[in-house]
Amino acid sequence: MELKPDAKESRFHLETLEGPAGIYAHIPFCLSKCPYCSFVSYQGMNLSVKNDYMQALKLQAHAMACHPWSRARTFHSLFIGGGTPSSVDTEKMAAFIEACLEAYDFTATPGKKPEVTLEANPNSLNSDRLDRFKQAGVNRLSIGIQSFSDAMLKNTGRKHTAREGEKAFESARAAGFKNINLDLMYGLPGQDIAKWENTLQQAVALAPEHLSVYELTIEKGTPFAELASRKRLDLPHEEVTLSMFEQAREILAVNGYRHYEISNYARNGFECIHNINYWENGSYVGLGGGAVSCFSGVRIKSEENPVRFTRMIDTGRMPFKEAEFLSLCARFRETVIMGLRMTAGVSNSRLENRFGLTPQIYYGDTLNRLLSQELLEEGEGRLRFTYKGLLLANSVMAQLV
Ligand code: SF4
Repeated sequence: MELKPDAKESRFHLETLEGPAGIYAHIPFCLSKCPYCSFVSYQGMNLSVKNDYMQALKLQAHAMACHPWSRARTFHSLFIGGGTPSSVDTEKMAAFIEACLEAYDFTATPGKKPEVTLEANPNSLNSDRLDRFKQAGVNRLSIGIQSFSDAMLKNTGRKHTAREGEKAFESARAAGFKNINLDLMYGLPGQDIAKWENTLQQAVALAPEHLSVYELTIEKGTPFAELASRKRLDLPHEEVTLSMFEQAREILAVNGYRHYEISNYARNGFECIHNINYWENGSYVGLGGGAVSCFSGVRIKSEENPVRFTRMIDTGRMPFKEAEFLSLCARFRETVIMGLRMTAGVSNSRLENRFGLTPQIYYGDTLNRLLSQELLEEGEGRLRFTYKGLLLANSVMAQLV
């Protein structure tokens, strides 16, 4: 395990303003591997590997809950992502959720239940599973619909149809889920503005509480990267994908969804608590293969391979692969960059209380230039993107790294 101290910074800076924390659990199994995906996920793992992994995950949850850092904390959210969490045995998943809810102190928001999200793919949901997940404590579902066009789903290697996506949503509603997110993707091979608009309209017709709208990115090492390098992927032009982003903003605004983060829209009160904690660079415990924990300036990553992960837990070892101590300045920069992803931006006073720094002090001329170029703006004690800056978010953020 490698620790990278930054000698220039105080190693023992006590961060008192991290606030409540979240828990992320990673389920690295999928029914099949999508050709654009670079997440830690494996297809074709047999049932015993998955069951052993779920048992190891539960043991890790207990071990991390006993850590003094966890014991001194309250938590507001549990997010089970992947991979495809809904692809493991229902009872094993329910037992894991129940164990987490019992082991950690989820009283961060008095009088409110913690937000418990489960990611699911349309073809791994049915009413029995939904009932059991709900009974175990899941109160937010995130369904990987991606598109309501069968042609687009086929082009991106998805194994479900548009109708199956719709049915998954209807089953979730019938099971009583009142907080549902749909994941949608744009910039897909063969997609044009009309097809994207059709997907957006079908999504709002279902009236989910939350929509995550991602642009397809071509990740190194994926089959799509290989096809793109041989010019065999019919991707929409950059100007078209920009129009798709604008189209999503317009259609979703008209239908009552607030654009609160670059890729996320919600009805009032349904913003994702767990993800806001990430964007505010808060603390979180990461459970499972490839998961990352981050608290008090320390970032720890676990072994990715689920079989090795399980073996490490079974033999009494912590499954950590690498650790990094983040300097105060590194954490400040990350907090600014992540915070700018939210349309509300970052609060100067909060940054100052937490780090003793403000963007003006730290970035000086760089910030002044971005302000004068009208890519960033200041107001009500916050720094945020202008609309022009939002469209160029990646290049602006690169100047603040
Ligand atoms: S279902 Fe999600 S995690 Fe699994 S391979 Fe496809 S994109 Fe990746």
